[in-house]
Amino acid sequence: MAGSRTADAGAATSRAGASTPGLVFDIKRFAVHDGPGVRTTVFLKGCPLSCAWCHNPESIDRKPQLFYRPDRCIECLECVKVCPTGAQSVSDENRRVYFREICDISELCVDVCYSGALELAGKRMSVDEVMEAVLQDADFYNESGGGMTISGGEPLLQAEFTIDLLRASTEAGVHTSVDTCGQLQWSTLKRAVPYTSMFLYDLKGMDSENHKTNIGVPNDRIVDNLRLLSETGAPIEIRMVIVPGVNDSDQQIDDTAELLGGLQNIVGVRLLAYHSMAGSKYVALGLDNTMPKVEAPAKEQLVAIGERLEAAGLNVHLPAKM
Ligand code: SF4
Ligand code: SF4
Repeated sequence: MAGSRTADAGAATSRAGASTPGLVFDIKRFAVHDGPGVRTTVFLKGCPLSCAWCHNPESIDRKPQLFYRPDRCIECLECVKVCPTGAQSVSDENRRVYFREICDISELCVDVCYSGALELAGKRMSVDEVMEAVLQDADFYNESGGGMTISGGEPLLQAEFTIDLLRASTEAGVHTSVDTCGQLQWSTLKRAVPYTSMFLYDLKGMDSENHKTNIGVPNDRIVDNLRLLSETGAPIEIRMVIVPGVNDSDQQIDDTAELLGGLQNIVGVRLLAYHSMAGSKYVALGLDNTMPKVEAPAKEQLVAIGERLEAAGLNVHLPAKM
């Protein structure tokens, strides 16, 4: 396991600085739900799953993408002037139009769009660049027991970058967490173990057929990898997004309790309430909005699910706001 030495901003330069850059779509400072303490969460692009309720749809594609939010466009036409492909154009009615299919994500338009209508999702960053951002908040990590979390997407789809970043963070004395979906080769997941202080492990549901319908794959590999990970002694926090009518049946919750209750090193189960607020992101990316048309789970339902899991000896964390 990675140690929890005192974070040292002076140790920012990593040995891994020259490694392959990572494709990062967000760096969130002062995160308080992505592992212990105050954290910086680094979000990497690319995911092997396609959850219908993904609240970060920009995380799925392994390439950079452009958000376009027409409601923020002030029709200044600066993007049209700089676009080399004609993707940003003016229509016959003298209105600004965007042709996503011929956009090569050169980013030139984003640089001149001051209204925020255009936004890039996915930026190449080196380990040193990310560590510079992470170490800005070293004092907060030391005070709160926090650190850095690498999330996604599935961060270990960019395995070399993720391992190098974990190693650099460990060498700088920063606590590390990896938020994984578990749908990857065990040999890849295993590589992260020596540099990860705590894993955050996403469980989407225990009904494999239902899982295949809503996530795109059965859950066998995810469950197998969770068992293998628990055998390494790595501390694991389970994360479950509760989607009413999809993965919240008594049978699925009881199967979850049976699985987790029989594993070692499960330090907690964090229940997250589904919400459909990310729907506008799908539209801004030019994607079909796949988010289930259901309400967020009621507080009483989350409490009841929590009690079922606690009965198996699990330490359950309910959402802060319900
Ligand atoms: S630069 Fe931005 S605000 Fe101006 S026309 Fe283009 S998208 Fe709209
Ligand atoms: S990203 Fe590049 S190609 Fe795409 S619309 Fe903007 S300027 Fe044009």
